Amino acid sequence: METTACILCECNCGIEIRIEDGHFTRIRGDKQHPASKGYTCEKALRLDHYQNSRDRLDSPLRRRPDGSFEAIDWDTAIAEVAARLVAVRDEHGGESILYYGGGGQGNHLGGAYSPALRAALGSRFRSNALAQEKTGEFWVNNLMFGNPVRGDFHHTEVAVFIGKNPWQSHGIPETRRILKAIANDPQRSMVVIDPRRTETADLADYFLQVRPGTDAFCLAALSAILVEDGLIDTRFVAEHTSGADAVLAALADVPIADFADRCGVPEDLLRATARRIAEAESVAVFEDLGIQQAPHSTLASWLEKLTWVLTGNFAKPGAQYIPTSMMPLARGNVSKRPSPVTGARVIGGMIPCNSVADEILTDHPDRFRAMIIESANPVHSLSNSRRMAEALESLDTVLVIDVALTETARHADYVLPASSQYEKWEATSFNFEFPDNVFHLRAPIVPARPGTLPEPEIHARLVRAIGGLDTALIADLRSAAERSRAEFAAAFMAATSAPEVGRLASVLLYETLGPTLPDGAAAAAALWGLAHRCALQHPADVRRAGFDGEGLEPGEALFEAILAARSGVVFTRSEWSEVWGRVKTPEGLINLDIPELVTALGELGSAPATLTSPKWPFILAAGERRSFTANTIFRDPEWRKRDRSGALRMSADDARDLEVVTGDHVRITTAGGNVTVEVEVTDTLRPGHVTLPNGHGVDYPAESGERTAAGVSPNDITVTGAPFEDPIAGTPFHKHVPAMIEPAAVEPVA
Ligand code: SF4
Repeated sequence: METTACILCECNCGIEIRIEDGHFTRIRGDKQHPASKGYTCEKALRLDHYQNSRDRLDSPLRRRPDGSFEAIDWDTAIAEVAARLVAVRDEHGGESILYYGGGGQGNHLGGAYSPALRAALGSRFRSNALAQEKTGEFWVNNLMFGNPVRGDFHHTEVAVFIGKNPWQSHGIPETRRILKAIANDPQRSMVVIDPRRTETADLADYFLQVRPGTDAFCLAALSAILVEDGLIDTRFVAEHTSGADAVLAALADVPIADFADRCGVPEDLLRATARRIAEAESVAVFEDLGIQQAPHSTLASWLEKLTWVLTGNFAKPGAQYIPTSMMPLARGNVSKRPSPVTGARVIGGMIPCNSVADEILTDHPDRFRAMIIESANPVHSLSNSRRMAEALESLDTVLVIDVALTETARHADYVLPASSQYEKWEATSFNFEFPDNVFHLRAPIVPARPGTLPEPEIHARLVRAIGGLDTALIADLRSAAERSRAEFAAAFMAATSAPEVGRLASVLLYETLGPTLPDGAAAAAALWGLAHRCALQHPADVRRAGFDGEGLEPGEALFEAILAARSGVVFTRSEWSEVWGRVKTPEGLINLDIPELVTALGELGSAPATLTSPKWPFILAAGERRSFTANTIFRDPEWRKRDRSGALRMSADDARDLEVVTGDHVRITTAGGNVTVEVEVTDTLRPGHVTLPNGHGVDYPAESGERTAAGVSPNDITVTGAPFEDPIAGTPFHKHVPAMIEPAAVEPVA
């Protein structure tokens, strides 16, 4: 059995795989993995459909004028791509080249090398899927804590899930074990706030089935009850927060009964929930796409955090914490410069996904002229797919780096085939655990498919072709690396102290330290710098994890341990008292007062509770996580045992009104378009609320080569622009798309 990880969600559970004739014939949890401890869900068992997909690429592709692709060799591809990107840079400036992506759920190592390519080109702007989900929460976290926060669900007394169904979307190590443990313990409670009665809601002690899109009303009422009923931890608020007066005054003005009515949750259930949260020893809270892609999403993120800050649930076991990091995810700071065309707020360095097409489809002189798209499929995953495809077609140059000929790749000028995540050294930056945080560098377990390259090598070749590397410096650093790690460290730090060299650091490491690493692990070279940074930022935590010594020794020891371990490494061991030191607000206190959101709270009462209308009487939640949904790296629909068509779920009342039953078809129309889809009647939804799963609608070649799509792509009918996106973060309302539904006849397949 070979040791690696599942790549289908942010948990990246450790797994062991038996490989026969290149196929994954047996998969089980890796008990040695320090975070997942042998746990997996059923999805991991289907990973052979990723590894041996018929859609895998095995040669660089160049698009012909007629839109078809021709295979070309790597040298030609690198030379032509570099020349095209340099031409765009020289004519329009490097800022006209947008970088998108950088990794999905498990492949972030390649993305660690992209900053060097972007620096060589002068590319300033980037985006990825986080900018259609998480940037609102990132922004709130940054203003309140100066860092991201997570919850200790393994030890909490009260677990709260808001717009999140962890039974299917996971997000916590050993998710289902933990959910069952909480549900089976009479001393612990689970609160679920969701418009759908999810599998998690079925385990909950307090299920607040809000009307779609009214989470902010529910959360505002919850916090207002904490104020009104004297349930606030006043000592905690006085000692550890700033700006409380303005926020408490705003909450005191919330019309609780009215908001309870508008969100559809009985006021006594809201009051009981608030009391359970306030009286618990510890509370951990997880918000997710259900509120992050719905009306008032950034406001709701702030209100979510108020519930646990006002009750003192931070920096203690079972509560919220700030994790250490190895490969930091984006922070929530706002760039000084907004996006060049639409002026959108750039949070964590990312242009909102909803703005990307608008930054291209315009005659504005500062529009983007080229895109580099790496391990991402924006034509399928972003709102209004047709417009995204149109935007790509209008660019001077589109480069796609991916394992498969995706919907996005088909609009590229060049497609560079990457090795799969099981054919190369790879890692994830989703490292959020506490007190032991875990990093897992995965070694290749099957040979790379001929004709493919790992992303770090692709980036290095492109930087070289662009002329971004000083060959004399490379030679000096290689010599130093061959002599000793200490000499290399001194030479590398001296060289990269010059900003223009420092920006190329990852590729420099790959080219110099990389060849000295064992087992062909050159791609891990960037981790050398990250391990040292981690040891400097968290010295006590790294020492406690077993990496001790003077000067650079802890960082070196950590790097060597990461290289050697096959099941992952505990890289930091933290103590709860240290969490306060990670609050990076100006005063070192949790900042409650975000004036923009205090104003938004004051105006919430006059906002519509739904975006439905006589023309659009239904609300579609697009992208529901189900047993047989995953991200689109599973292109082969055969991985699904059930729900092959990705049915539209609706309530029995709606089905009766439409005179349809499970298995019938309906046409669902939104302002973005229409699709015809099979129906599944369910008792989990309120009338007027329908759901479509994520990950469907990717096309896949049959043995004959003919391509067909299974199910519908939700983004064929999602919409962009006000009022369908968050005014602060620009995140789309995928969970709140006004729609119209009518029965549809479908010709039986002969
Ligand atoms: S929980 Fe996530 S990472 Fe773990 S096996 Fe399931 S899909 Fe894979």
